[in-house]
Amino acid sequence: MTFRKRYTGLIENYRDRLPVSDNTRLISLGEGNTPLIQLQNIPALLDNKVDIYVKYEGLNPTGSFKDRGMTMAVTKAVEEGAKAIICASTGNTSASAAAYAARAGITAFVLIPDGKIAQGKLAQAMMEGAIILQIKGNFDDGMRLVKEVASHAPVTIVNSINPYRLQGQKTAAFEIVDELGRAPDFHCLPVGNAGNITAHWIGYSEYACFGENKGTETCAYCDGNCKFKRDAEVDSRPTMVGYQASGSAPFMRGEMVDDPETVATAIRIGHPQSWDYAWKVKEESGGWFDECSDEEILAAQKLLAEKEGVFCEPASATSLAGAMRDINSGKIPEGSTVVCTLTGHGLKDPDTAIKQSTAPVVKVDADLEQVKNAILDNM
Ligand SMILES: *Cc1c(COP(=O)(O)O)cnc(C)c1O
Repeated sequence: MTFRKRYTGLIENYRDRLPVSDNTRLISLGEGNTPLIQLQNIPALLDNKVDIYVKYEGLNPTGSFKDRGMTMAVTKAVEEGAKAIICASTGNTSASAAAYAARAGITAFVLIPDGKIAQGKLAQAMMEGAIILQIKGNFDDGMRLVKEVASHAPVTIVNSINPYRLQGQKTAAFEIVDELGRAPDFHCLPVGNAGNITAHWIGYSEYACFGENKGTETCAYCDGNCKFKRDAEVDSRPTMVGYQASGSAPFMRGEMVDDPETVATAIRIGHPQSWDYAWKVKEESGGWFDECSDEEILAAQKLLAEKEGVFCEPASATSLAGAMRDINSGKIPEGSTVVCTLTGHGLKDPDTAIKQSTAPVVKVDADLEQVKNAILDNM
């Protein structure tokens, strides 16, 4: 009998491209290796024919892509002797930080905005033993405070301004290229702090670097690590497209937004931390930013669940909402291969889901006849 090798997380899987040594104790929960699901029913509803894949990052251990960055950030924090980590969060970063801190045996402090945090995320941080500081303010206020306090207290910041976060998150691009055997033509993401769109571009650039430079030259992204050949040899990178919620769209306004508001709480961010990087990604990839209304976001979330059986949280659906619009308009041309990142799981925010659900709940007695009739009536 043969056994398949146990998957032990993205650092182990892409060790040669990440800043760890043989002696580094890896803090992992088996994150990464998420499914790249080809949509089968939604493309038929669109005006132009394209291949759409969703990268279902909600299937990471704490239910969002944040785990990719957190395994790396907490691994390095522990290696450097940290006893505590801290982050500001709209929810998913705190859930992830709490889990990896628990795994490492260190303390997580999380600053969350008053209200405006999805129930599932709060439950996670509480169960995983984080110390929760609920501030009277929004994410941007929390972020400012975290940066200030870190120079007064012995805590390591694990927001995406921690460079190890993006190193971990770039592996999502590696996985996509390894599975498709090439880079997609377009990669669409929801944008909040813009760390993830930046991380994906780093990942794609590192892989493409092998193709362009044959491992002999260095590029701006990989510190010369291009010599590591992987399954797929790629010489192209995708066009990167970032979608924001209309009430929280500093990249569309061209300036910071002071009172961001959207149902997609994970991207309710008016002062993105990776502002400069994201503009560079747009320019280098020939991509663009656009915005989606809350109605469009919720409609895409529902469509994805109803037509494909994939349940993501509202913020995640922003990528598909925007992509569908740009496919219909032809901005994303016919014949393209499109990847949409679904950043977090639908179970994170059950309240928003139930509120917008129109699924019929048929009340019947515990009686065979009534159950039978209910089935026949609803076939
Ligand atoms: C963090 C997060 C985002 C935004 O990612 P950025 O790197 O801040 O742009 C989007 N969706 C979900 C579900 C998130 O948790």
